[in-house]
Amino acid sequence: MAKKVVIDPGHGGTDSGAVGNGIIEKDYNLKISKYIFDRLKSLGVDVYITRETDETLTPTERVNRVLNAFGNSSDVLVVSNHINAGGADGQSVTNIKYNN
Ligand SMILES: [Zn+2]
Repeated sequence: MAKKVVIDPGHGGTDSGAVGNGIIEKDYNLKISKYIFDRLKSLGVDVYITRETDETLTPTERVNRVLNAFGNSSDVLVVSNHINAGGADGQSVTNIKYNN
């Protein structure tokens, strides 16, 4: 069964995420996520992105967008992009599976 992919750019709007050295995490999360979204779409993958602009999402809104994209199904892969500073350094990709 073909996988469906939800790309989630972490943070956004009033939630900047990590800030340092002139870098604002939410902006890079969005750029990285848009690249992944466009690339997967061009390859014919069913893909959805939780935000395409610098928009504030509550945790509930974010989860609802994830769940509404393709439903809560085992064939949906969720990729939430973050760039960490502090306890964990560097780039990370978290794959969230809501269903087994
Ligand atoms: Zn983050």
